[in-house]
Amino acid sequence: MALIVQKFGGSSVANKDRLFNVADIVTRTYAKGNKVIVVVSAQGDTTDDLIAKAKEVNEDASKREMDMLLTAGEQMSASLLAMAIEKLGYPVVSLLGWQAGFVTSTAYGSARIKRVEPDRMQKELDKKNIIVVTGFQGINRYDDMTTLGRGGSDTSAVAIAAAMHADLCQIYTDVEGVYTADPRKVKNAQKLEAISYDEMLELASLGAQVLNNRSVEMAKKYGIELEVLSSMTRKPGTIVKEAVKMEEMLISGVAKDEDVARVSIIGVPDRPGLAFKIFSKLAANNINVDIILQSVGRNGTKDISFTVSHSNLKPTIELLNTPYAEQLGANTVVYDENIAKVSVVGAGMESHPGTAAKMFEALFDANINIRMISTSEIKISVLIDRADADRAVSVIHERFFDKTQQH
Ligand code: ADP
Ligand code: ASP
Ligand code: MG
Repeated sequence: MALIVQKFGGSSVANKDRLFNVADIVTRTYAKGNKVIVVVSAQGDTTDDLIAKAKEVNEDASKREMDMLLTAGEQMSASLLAMAIEKLGYPVVSLLGWQAGFVTSTAYGSARIKRVEPDRMQKELDKKNIIVVTGFQGINRYDDMTTLGRGGSDTSAVAIAAAMHADLCQIYTDVEGVYTADPRKVKNAQKLEAISYDEMLELASLGAQVLNNRSVEMAKKYGIELEVLSSMTRKPGTIVKEAVKMEEMLISGVAKDEDVARVSIIGVPDRPGLAFKIFSKLAANNINVDIILQSVGRNGTKDISFTVSHSNLKPTIELLNTPYAEQLGANTVVYDENIAKVSVVGAGMESHPGTAAKMFEALFDANINIRMISTSEIKISVLIDRADADRAVSVIHERFFDKTQQH
């Protein structure tokens, strides 16, 4: 007998038919003699709809009240799925995040899971119940409900798998696994049989929304193997695990992130300590900075550019604008929101120096201008105009994956 965690995303539980489809998957697993803990997201676009509703009432609603609202989405899908499972004649109980023992940090809207107290879930398993847990939520030390950030249900599932020592953690979604690019956008995207934690973590962090990046981080930390698969077609999916021998794959995927804005501080005095001043000020205000580029100094000044997420753009500009820019001795702060980050990820590139050139050539052939570049051992990212982003993903993907992988 195994303990299996099965997570179902929003489209997998979107309506009555989908709920019964999920109830069928879950009860078949249970009927084989397994213990099953299910994690659900809110149905379909419920979370987006709730956010829109909140905006109608108050554009600047507090994060605490937003979490009170958003946690309701998962409460609905968990109870409805439990009702479908009941209807099929199986013992089931649905639990909210706090009932299932999810204790989080206090950060409303982006809480971190501190621990999952296993007692209640263990009791329900001992009673032979199937458990349906609301994803994406927990409770903080003020006894308030919190949410884990968009896409957070994946992390809820992995946290349960770790806390309950599950044998298997399956992430059911609306595509058949992890592909070499978003299969809805790139028609020749190929399904990967397996991918390493490190590569999946990069892909997820660089925009491939199929798995939330924190869930991959946690899976790596606790050594939880994940299977990403479709709730619709029931074919084997993609395994995410420690080391993967990928038949000489140079890269494992191409990802796109449109939640990027570029900020440039123009004419900063070219002397030591300025970068430190700027970035420590941003860090003190909890602003995460991604790609950083500093121009070569000329006439005693230099330009410093970096990227932030859209939600951090306004606070960044407010912090850096005059009088701060003047204090630094800089001329102006400018920004550009119409950009995107396109990345290739692959452990194979460590031993193949031509990867960057190949990517840049594909962009050059498509007449796409690169604005910034950033690399690590297993990824190369470029910043380009947002209008070019989908085309860039396609031409890069074609260069690396069509005509079987060439090195
Ligand atoms: P869920 O609601 O099940 O959590 P998500 O919408 O969060 O589903 O994630 C699944 C979506 O991720 C797919 O529909 C697909 O469009 C998108 N996606 C982006 N990049 C990839 C990729 N490399 N492989 C698979 N899916 C991807
Ligand atoms: N319902 C939440 C969201 O839409 C959490 C999730 O789906 O994972 O972001
Ligand atoms: Mg998701």
